[in-house]
Amino acid sequence: MSRVYNFSAGPAALPLAVLEQVRDEMLDWHGCGTSVMEMSHRGKAFDEIAEQAEADLRTLMAIPANYKVLFLQGGASAQFAMIPLNLLGDKAGADYVNTGNWSKKAISEAARYCDVHIAATTEPGNFTRVPSQAELDLREEAAYCHITGNNTIFGTEFHYVPETGSVPLVSDASSHILSRPMDVSRYGLIYAGAQKNIGPAGLTIVIVRDDLIGRAREITPTMFDYQVHADNDSRYNTPPTFAIYVAGLVFKQLLEQGGLTAAEAVNRRKADKLYSAIEGLALYGSPVEVASRSLMNVPFTLADDALDADFLAEAAKAGLVSLKGHRKVGGMRASIYNAMPESGVDALVSFMEEFQRTRA
Ligand SMILES: *Cc1c(COP(=O)(O)O)cnc(C)c1O
Repeated sequence: MSRVYNFSAGPAALPLAVLEQVRDEMLDWHGCGTSVMEMSHRGKAFDEIAEQAEADLRTLMAIPANYKVLFLQGGASAQFAMIPLNLLGDKAGADYVNTGNWSKKAISEAARYCDVHIAATTEPGNFTRVPSQAELDLREEAAYCHITGNNTIFGTEFHYVPETGSVPLVSDASSHILSRPMDVSRYGLIYAGAQKNIGPAGLTIVIVRDDLIGRAREITPTMFDYQVHADNDSRYNTPPTFAIYVAGLVFKQLLEQGGLTAAEAVNRRKADKLYSAIEGLALYGSPVEVASRSLMNVPFTLADDALDADFLAEAAKAGLVSLKGHRKVGGMRASIYNAMPESGVDALVSFMEEFQRTRA
């Protein structure tokens, strides 16, 4: 068996050591005689798994005590509806910053429930950057202001935390949560689907300031009410137990490796190497403005897109897979989440050099 370097945007690579531990514990978790998948979500063993996972995530992200951590389902996409349903309260509208496809989906869902004001959009330049603070047209009366912290498809990232005054800031952090420290206290709510930088698909994490919950609209389905999940320790119904278990192992490993400051240092090194190659090698280019470049999702184009198919085929032969860019951007996209080792980026850079050499 040989593992490849998997640059998939999501579901994405998981740390090898975590997969090995999952394999080793698969048939018999800690002497229980069953796998985690087969145990009650209300039993003592799973209590331990869920409580440890939450405690470790709180430590990793330094989550203040007045924030709830919820382990939910439905992906980031369900949050597009849950956020307005729960956070609007008696307010009529919310502000949204449009920085790409996922922002647009969040906006169209929110528009079903409230008056959406677009505080800024970078669509006219095909989303090759995020707006600056000065460009944000924020409303004091907004229930919240929503951003997509990292734009998985377009490869842009907010490298500053927008200042929204007393209006709670909400961030879709699906593709950059845990890549670096975040000052959670600057946000009202942070959410992320697990399948990019946390663990298996099926788990969605919501970190929400406790004064923002308990005000869900009357029409809110029970399963969409944050308060219900908070009151039941995310076990109102059967949670995605296996995904929570694997995510917990990822948290534990990150803590052992020095936490998010250490993760950031590695992620910056990886991104620097890749962007330097894209800039330094004549065959490649980046569509993204330098100041907005994502540390996690790196789109790049070839000078002649007729070479794209060869690039992908030869890369795959070299054990570098899932590099095809999103159809909205074209070219390539290398997603280099926490679980992508630096050796994977090194291998990609070497391959890019070699590919250019053979085509010159
Ligand atoms: C992948 C992704 C989503 C969609 O996530 P699902 O869990 O599939 O609903 C939303 N936002 C961002 C930024 C993403 O990267």
